[in-house]
Amino acid sequence: MTLTETAEERTFRRELRTWLEANIPERLRGSEAFEDRREVDRILAREGYIGYTWPTEYGGRGADPVHAMILDEELGRLNVPQSRSPSRFGVSLVGPALIRHGTPEQKARFLPRILAVEDIWCQGFSEPNAGSDLANVQTTAEDRGDHLVLNGGKIWTTQAQYADWIFVLARTDPTAPRHKNLSYLLVPMRQEGIEVRPLVQLTRESEFNQVFFRDVRVPKENVLGGLGNGWAVAMTTLASERSYGQTSRYRVYQEQLRRLAALVARTPDPGLKAAWTAELGQLYADVEGIGDLGYKVVSIAQAGEDVGFLPSVTKLWWSETHQRLAELGYRVASVVGDRADQDYWTLLFLQTRAETIYAGTSQIQRNIIAERILGLPR
Ligand SMILES: Cc1cc2nc3c(=O)[nH]c(=O)nc-3n(C[C@H](O)[C@H](O)[C@H](O)COP(=O)(O)OP(=O)(O)OC[C@H]3O[C@@H](n4cnc5c(N)ncnc54)[C@H](O)[C@@H]3O)c2cc1C
Repeated sequence: MTLTETAEERTFRRELRTWLEANIPERLRGSEAFEDRREVDRILAREGYIGYTWPTEYGGRGADPVHAMILDEELGRLNVPQSRSPSRFGVSLVGPALIRHGTPEQKARFLPRILAVEDIWCQGFSEPNAGSDLANVQTTAEDRGDHLVLNGGKIWTTQAQYADWIFVLARTDPTAPRHKNLSYLLVPMRQEGIEVRPLVQLTRESEFNQVFFRDVRVPKENVLGGLGNGWAVAMTTLASERSYGQTSRYRVYQEQLRRLAALVARTPDPGLKAAWTAELGQLYADVEGIGDLGYKVVSIAQAGEDVGFLPSVTKLWWSETHQRLAELGYRVASVVGDRADQDYWTLLFLQTRAETIYAGTSQIQRNIIAERILGLPR
């Protein structure tokens, strides 16, 4: 593993940082508002930084893992991480599936619009009884010759209220065995028969939604990867979901840790200060470890080797560490913080609750690590 940047990579980082500082207005940095985040994407798209790793034949810049990591980190530094980009469902989830499994017509139709931030996508996988056990989806798409008819519902669908398109995993053959009865459909959101109901979270935000389908007509040309092949296509999507945006998280957590350390330093009580400092030290070690593991994954990928199940270790580590960081911030702010500190840390504390659930729960990651990395029996 080499962790030292080459002269060319250092130059790229410096120039990119200058460009981002000059082009991402202050008011957009760290903003949670959907329109602000989309504006950031549009600014990045003009310079080719959306879909930066996509092959050039599909309009991307064909960036290698190290350049992609530098972009990711520098976006994290300005608090506009890729993990908050509205284009991430297009760029990092359905995009790789289209590139791998799409027909030439599907690629030509969908990929350029993702890169130009003209289409925003959302992910219609989870249902009330199909989350970790994704193969249990009950939404059906009945074959009617030249089209399918979609019925059922999805839940936890992030940004469905803003999305133009949804990629849906649905059952197309009730008689086929599990994993062979699913299809992956590309469905426009704004049409008769689709209803979106935002769900209010404990942060009072409505990041995700329930989506209902009633007799929605889906032309066969919108099936990705062929009828009954949805599981394989979904696996391409899930593999990319776990492997992007890790190094920007590291930069964001470093910044949050610095903010927390400044708060701890204001504590007049020496006993509390000592206890919190010990927790800060442990968090610092974890955050640096997450950064190092991120670099390790990047350097394996850069060497053209398989990263295997390491992204599961990263996912488990960042999500649980971030929860502890936010929880310490919440406790410290409630004792020594002013109103702004308390609001900031309370919101972060509540937001991080979801991080050990989405993109594969902690229990599922532990199962993967136990079985696939450590070789323990099922
Ligand atoms: C903020 C947020 C955004 C999301 N966005 C989307 C989205 O845009 N699109 C989408 O499709 N989905 C989305 N999801 C859904 C997410 O993928 C699921 O919540 C996740 O896969 C878990 O599924 P579940 O909620 O059905 O829980 P379940 O799978 O029912 O799990 C319940 C509990 O049982 C545990 N468990 C389940 N199976 C096992 C097992 N085999 N071994 C050990 N423990 C197990 C789990 O770890 C968990 O603690 C989002 C979720 C959140 C929180």
